[in-house]
Amino acid sequence: MLRFSTRRVLVIGLGLIGGSFARALRARSLVDEVLGYDRNRGECELGLSLGVIDRIADDLEAAVSGADLIVLAVPVKVMEQVLSEIKPWLRPQTLITDVGSTKGNLVDAARRLFDPMPPGFVPGHPIAGTEKSGVGASDEELFVRRKLILTPLPESDPGATLAIARLWQGVGSEVLQMEVKRHDEVLAATSHLPHLLAFSLVDTLAHEAENTDIFRYAAGGFRDFTRIAASDPSMWHDICFANRDQLLTQIDRFTEGVAKLREAIARGDSQSLLGIFTRAKSAREHFSRILARSAYSPDLHNHPVTFRVRPGSGIKGQADLPGDRSISHRAVMLAALAEGVTDIEGFLEGEDSLATLQAFRDLGVVIEGPHQGLVRVYGVGLHGLQPPVGPIYLGSSGTSMRLLCGVLAAQPFATELYGDEALSQVSMSALVEPLRQMGAQIETAAGGCPPLKITPVESLAGAGKVLRVASAQVKSALLLAGLYTQSQTVIEQVKPTRDHTERMLSRFGCELREQAGQLQMVPGARLTATRLRVPGDLSAAAFFIVAASLTPGAELLLEHVGINPTRIGLLSILQQMGAEIELLNVRDDCAEPVADIRVRAAVLKGIEIPAEWQSLALDECPALLVAAACAEGVTTLDAHVEGAFATNRRLNLMSDALQQLGIDLRLEASRLIVKGGQLHGGRVSSGGDPRVAMALAVAGHLASEELDIEQCASVALFCPEFVDQARRIGIALYKEEG
Ligand code: NAP
Repeated sequence: MLRFSTRRVLVIGLGLIGGSFARALRARSLVDEVLGYDRNRGECELGLSLGVIDRIADDLEAAVSGADLIVLAVPVKVMEQVLSEIKPWLRPQTLITDVGSTKGNLVDAARRLFDPMPPGFVPGHPIAGTEKSGVGASDEELFVRRKLILTPLPESDPGATLAIARLWQGVGSEVLQMEVKRHDEVLAATSHLPHLLAFSLVDTLAHEAENTDIFRYAAGGFRDFTRIAASDPSMWHDICFANRDQLLTQIDRFTEGVAKLREAIARGDSQSLLGIFTRAKSAREHFSRILARSAYSPDLHNHPVTFRVRPGSGIKGQADLPGDRSISHRAVMLAALAEGVTDIEGFLEGEDSLATLQAFRDLGVVIEGPHQGLVRVYGVGLHGLQPPVGPIYLGSSGTSMRLLCGVLAAQPFATELYGDEALSQVSMSALVEPLRQMGAQIETAAGGCPPLKITPVESLAGAGKVLRVASAQVKSALLLAGLYTQSQTVIEQVKPTRDHTERMLSRFGCELREQAGQLQMVPGARLTATRLRVPGDLSAAAFFIVAASLTPGAELLLEHVGINPTRIGLLSILQQMGAEIELLNVRDDCAEPVADIRVRAAVLKGIEIPAEWQSLALDECPALLVAAACAEGVTTLDAHVEGAFATNRRLNLMSDALQQLGIDLRLEASRLIVKGGQLHGGRVSSGGDPRVAMALAVAGHLASEELDIEQCASVALFCPEFVDQARRIGIALYKEEG
């Protein structure tokens, strides 16, 4: 790797972009000197008077031969001419970059001019700009938090790429790298095509005299859509030719799309129309994070959020709970595979369940909503899914990936499932192995981790033997695959696990047989659309139940909460500890048992928690530890019940935080021994785990002093209403951002 200097910079073309870069470099003292050169002398003089540059480069030869870095910021059509002009004066160590909106044409030009290609040549393109031109509009903040794409060539020295990247980072840009061809493809679709459409729409309407009114009364949509038609015409003229081939491809794709829309309107085909609109709306919402490969809902993961909780004196009233997470996933999946239209109420608009919803949209299912928990799914039947246009992104949702894998293993088209960084490190072997036994063809990355590449097979079999499973999600994936098999699928559960999938299947008209602990899925099932109301999430209720149980004088009512027998371990444990929890109005709703839960303050006493109850309270263990910390006497639990703390990390986070708050807690062999006491205030971290953050918020309410909990951003994605609902019942919880 060569070393390159960037002390003396020459910007050729001192307009909006060149001027903004020069200005940003100077404002941040990133270089010793910035010279400006422009064929328009007036721009240079204005640039000098505005402090954009240190000096005007009157003598181009001297300026080029003395520059460490040359930035070409001229229109794309003159890049070749400028490159050939400066070529004789370049030194072997001169860095050359540009800011042009197209890259292929520049690289072709450079290949015609140079042999060999200079090692310091690294093309670039800032994804930033305005409709204005000229140095007068330059802005030193233009590139802050904007992307800058570098397209290094095989001949570019890595040291050159690094030096140029550092300068762009210095002016606030996020630097990305791409191949030249890919850059031009992506930009043709995301920037060049939209500009042409805006120009074309305004031009089409403006041509007709009677349309004057359209402009006079133009609504916001028209203004927003056509804003970019005010951009510099000659720049866009140049870009059209510089990126001709990619742009023609994109115009053809768009024309096809508009033709489909026209046809759907002409035929009165409202399902197709709704399909286009709902897919587009959700794609629009999720576009940026799919590209970023980060969170599925708004990207809050990296946003610092601290919870501040004041010691509380009372809890009263009623809290609304979010819809159950596990049931929300299954509701959308089975509704999509059913025949007919299913309306779902109480759908959890959390990151994971939204990932499942979007995946089915990618598979061609029309889904309206979610809007305040309401979702309408136009089921396509078991055999109506369409091949997605690309790999399906599932964010951090392991549930979506496992369940979907069962469905997709049986489809007649290939699919690929991938997730964010965290999900990409989770082994899917326990899922993939039994599906392979059913005949599925699934490839994984090393260690059984995603991406999962699923190849179509002739047909799946029921494996011809009993499939043994120890996890609800693997069981669910096998049941879903079992919807497509020729022969019976028999699943034996090594231990009882959540049965939401079985219940949801029966709600959609597919009965499973259960015999001697074995589940039998008979081939030839059909799913029929239905109406669903997702019960409130007992896992979310757990935090409020613990808080109310331990707050003197408290009385809390939680309505329509799911009390599935595979999930109620926490209630049994707390009752055993002395909690006053009443289940009122117990009923069945959509094949799930639900109840209204009334909790009154009580004195909790430490107990030895039976392992079988604990395994029915897996997600609730963080809340349970807070109850143990505040109970009288000693509570012991098994730290290693499978799944109890999802990972050791969650257990460690909870233990560390409670110890910091003054609780005597220790691990002996595999028993966690918690001696109840008084929680103190202070500052702890949730480590970014939403359940830990929510449990610690309850600890703060019960503590003797104020408590700050760091890294709580994920709560908004996981349980969007948590803070509001906590406040509603009297927990003095405040969110500090930034
Ligand atoms: P601009 O404001 O018009 O600036 C370009 C400057 O280059 C003008 O002063 C122009 O002078 C000068 N110039 C033209 N030919 C020249 C030559 N042969 N030698 C020296 N100077 C010459 O344009 P811009 O918006 O900054 O665009 C510059 C580059 O940035 C283009 O390649 C464009 O694709 C790219 N870009 C633009 C945006 C955006 O939003 N504007 C965003 C990203 C990238 P005249 O006025 O006399 O022509």
